[in-house]
Amino acid sequence: MAEKMYYPNSELAREAHCGSMEQYKRMHESSIKDPTQFWGEIAKQFYWETPAIEDKFFSYNFDLSKGDIFIRWMEGASTNISFNLLDKNVKSGNGDKIAFYWEGNDPEDYSRLTYRKLLEETCRFANVLKSKGVSNGDKVVIYMPMILELPIAMLACTRIGAVHSVVFAGYSSDSLADRILDSKAKVLITADGVWRGEKLLLLKNICDEAADKVTKHGHRLESCIVVAHLRRLNNPQGKTKGVNGTSNGTAMEMANVSWDDDRDVWWHDEMEDAEASCYPVWMAAEDPLFILYTSGSTGKPKGVLHTTAGYLIYAATTFKYVFDYHPGDIYWCTADCGWITGHTYVVYGPLANGATSVIFEGTPFYPENDRYWSIIDKYKVTQFYTAPTAIRSLMKFGDHLVKKHSLSTLKVLGSVGEPINTEAWLWFYNLVGHGKCSIADTFWQTETGGHVITPLPGATPMKPGSATFPFFGVLPELLDEDGRVIEGEGEGYLVFRRPWPGMMRTLYGNHQRFQNTYFDRFNGFYCTGDGARRDADGYLWVTGRIDDMLNVSGHLMSTAEVESVLAEHSSVAEAAVVSKSHPVKGQCLYCFITPTAGTTFDEKLQGELKRKVRERIGPFAQPDAIQHAPALPKTRSGKIMRRMLRKIAAGDRNIGDTSTLADETVIQLLFELRPCV
Ligand code: ATP
Ligand code: MG
Repeated sequence: MAEKMYYPNSELAREAHCGSMEQYKRMHESSIKDPTQFWGEIAKQFYWETPAIEDKFFSYNFDLSKGDIFIRWMEGASTNISFNLLDKNVKSGNGDKIAFYWEGNDPEDYSRLTYRKLLEETCRFANVLKSKGVSNGDKVVIYMPMILELPIAMLACTRIGAVHSVVFAGYSSDSLADRILDSKAKVLITADGVWRGEKLLLLKNICDEAADKVTKHGHRLESCIVVAHLRRLNNPQGKTKGVNGTSNGTAMEMANVSWDDDRDVWWHDEMEDAEASCYPVWMAAEDPLFILYTSGSTGKPKGVLHTTAGYLIYAATTFKYVFDYHPGDIYWCTADCGWITGHTYVVYGPLANGATSVIFEGTPFYPENDRYWSIIDKYKVTQFYTAPTAIRSLMKFGDHLVKKHSLSTLKVLGSVGEPINTEAWLWFYNLVGHGKCSIADTFWQTETGGHVITPLPGATPMKPGSATFPFFGVLPELLDEDGRVIEGEGEGYLVFRRPWPGMMRTLYGNHQRFQNTYFDRFNGFYCTGDGARRDADGYLWVTGRIDDMLNVSGHLMSTAEVESVLAEHSSVAEAAVVSKSHPVKGQCLYCFITPTAGTTFDEKLQGELKRKVRERIGPFAQPDAIQHAPALPKTRSGKIMRRMLRKIAAGDRNIGDTSTLADETVIQLLFELRPCV
């Protein structure tokens, strides 16, 4: 079936950094032919204390038979990321420009930070970290809500060469303790608590539990630095003043948190006397920048390590081209800094381009289900970047909530995290984007550091659900089961032939696991673990995890394909499909369906869904079981955890690592609703 093409609007293309497919192809070709020249040119936009050694600009080994896997960019160069993101912008006259607008959970709470102020606060906090004994190479764990102190803490680490490990402030004390132990961090940064929608999370208490747990493992957390965020919100003056919040009270009065006088300090107390300047520590190109754990969709999270120079130039370049950012634009990425998207596209990419962004603390559903749309209008957002899970959940509430708002400033819409089904894509494009915005369906991973397969807004004609073409420097291939390269049309394992600057370097403390996970399966290639299809026009379609592939009577199908068909039914809000073993067919399809609000899940609906899949994909794909799922098991970043659904389908209560599961009660509920099949 030929898909309809959606062309970038001509106004956008005219102004775009990359405004045509010819230009894209030329740039991609030169990035592959001569990576040193291509990235060397880009690197000139940044400050290097010492330059890279020219003939050592790029080296790597992806071939295990030749020895260990390694990836090196810009050997010999030294720099400091916070210097490039902050000092450089201030020096070039952008000091008074807004770096971040902060929008609180409560619409009455908001604040802003200029580049100059962000630099000062970063330096101040870098000095606080130094006073706690943190220095070059030390690990610092950050467990904070989406408040301005979070990017400040991250940047302060980079100022002095400390390696941050941000843990999403929705994880349990067990997950936090695991991550503290993994990096042996001595310092933890947190807040007293946070409101997320109508839910109060007492973060400091969770940190106390985590501290007790790590102590039992023989590790001592020396300092815990606590932002008095809740107390600030409860300030009788009303409005939050963000990082300008003042203090006048004892620790105990500020929030109802327990306190260890030897370990715990308030952020604002420490900042009061800290100096607002801090000389940057010059880091070698391949020095570690941060550790971040994958989402845990397919198993136990992996501690991905990113380094300095390559990550900086890749974050900056993908941000510039994929969102087509221009001065004056207001960019908003809804991701939390606890995920890679929050690292590369809330903090590093935007600041490297001197951009103005919105940081949002709350949820799309509070105080009303149109919160996203009102924020877009409030700040006149031009680029909006979110996840399919958010789009699907907002679709459920009907179109009227979107239509209440103008959304006229939008130019580029981005999606990340999962394959976006056609219906959600079209809704995003037509309703939110008024049919005039480009959609960037960005495929990437914690491991890839930045976008690797993505359309460019002014250049790439879009097909709903396709991540389209590789970004500069990226060489994707599709491999068959035996590791043979599939040329032209076909479907297979999505792998990359060589590294780009922002790629991970190792799994922290476990290079062997890094090699086993990503390079063992197909020697010579980085294996993403995802499957993809290339169509006749050369477009790439990410079809989902290889582990989730469905094989029914010898027919290979992807979860994305079947789920997309199911989600087109007007009574279906969300669908997830897994395989279940079958005595005759080998495997059969087992579908979990979340009906739209007000719809009853009955036999009629089941019959219609079975018919739809049969007609659209083929008789062999007809599902054997369709189960009612009032909710689906998801990671805390909103991804469907099909590995658990497979267990439910099989009736197996041994569901594996649940540390990244958002809501454990869903599992029990789904076991109870399991039909007899
Ligand atoms: P784990 O590796 O622990 O199982 P995870 O893979 O979900 O967790 P992330 O690094 O956050 O952790 O997610 C990367 C994965 O998200 C990709 O491998 C892919 O499966 C999926 N993904 C991201 N963006 C897209 C996209 N635009 N289209 C399709 N899939 C996507
Ligand atoms: Mg993964």
